[in-house]
Amino acid sequence: MKITHAAAAAALAILSSAPAMAAEEVNVYSYRQPFLIQPMFDAFERQTGIEVNVVFAKAGLVERLKNEGRNSPADLIFTVDIGRLSDVKQAGLTQSVTSEILTAKIPAQYRDPDGQWFGLTTRARLIYASKDRVAPGEITSYEDLADPKWAGRICTRSGNHAYQISLLAAYIAHYGEEKAEQWLRGVKANLARKPQGNDRAQIKAISEGVCDLSLGYNYYYALMLADEEQSVWANAANVVFPTLGGKGTHVNISGIAMTKNAPNRDNAVKLMEFLADDLAQQMYAEQNNEYPVNTNVPWSGILKSLGTFEADTMPLSTIAEYRAVAAKIVNKVGYDQ
Ligand code: FE
Repeated sequence: MKITHAAAAAALAILSSAPAMAAEEVNVYSYRQPFLIQPMFDAFERQTGIEVNVVFAKAGLVERLKNEGRNSPADLIFTVDIGRLSDVKQAGLTQSVTSEILTAKIPAQYRDPDGQWFGLTTRARLIYASKDRVAPGEITSYEDLADPKWAGRICTRSGNHAYQISLLAAYIAHYGEEKAEQWLRGVKANLARKPQGNDRAQIKAISEGVCDLSLGYNYYYALMLADEEQSVWANAANVVFPTLGGKGTHVNISGIAMTKNAPNRDNAVKLMEFLADDLAQQMYAEQNNEYPVNTNVPWSGILKSLGTFEADTMPLSTIAEYRAVAAKIVNKVGYDQ
């Protein structure tokens, strides 16, 4: 497999001219880091003989896809968050894929009803709760974060970040716009400090006594446990799998979409189906401590140790429809101010 970094223009030229040389290949644009995806692509190459070429970048791949238009070598785009996947669809850069294998292996709530994107892993938005200052069972839902008893005790990242927008969009999907706004005002009123930093920075703040509760994805907790310095932060907090609307925990996905002009469409479908199958699902989910979408596949040991939970069953395609309203509410309540 070839992995190219977007900055290397020369390498990209090789990728663009590759079709004439390689008999069978598939080209991937990925926002996900090489160490997460390389093992699966290597396994796919071994099994099928189809070469997987990857362009990896932290930003700008969607713009590149747009600029390349019909000449784009890309067949598949890998990214995280329902927001980013639905943005690619809305921009008209994807095509519909119909596959019995994909619909059998990926639960309906984690894929686009039109087949324009498919989730491969899920991540649960957890509440991290101080071991010292929050009793087990004292908080069990996202709704509870707006309770005045937590005044001055909550830390979160920016309300405009995709992860927070998705949670608020889910809240709107369950309760409507007005109640969601009330809730966000309540959470804001409870903040210990201005929203800042990433998911890990919030749990670090708990370990430093800045706040008692925060929000973050499960894989960050697992990553922190495995890191010498950060395990101190993680060990300061318990994880809570909160409910939303009396239902399960809000989850998001990492996923894939086929580009509109995929030059290697058949190979791309083969790769998508391979990625939904047991072997790749286990490799991918374990590598980043995410949950496999394929329910046949066991969770990593560390995720098992965090406990089981029910996921919210609201389709992510529905949640995605409320993202624009969610962003409007964040600004209206001045969440980051
Ligand atoms: Fe992340």
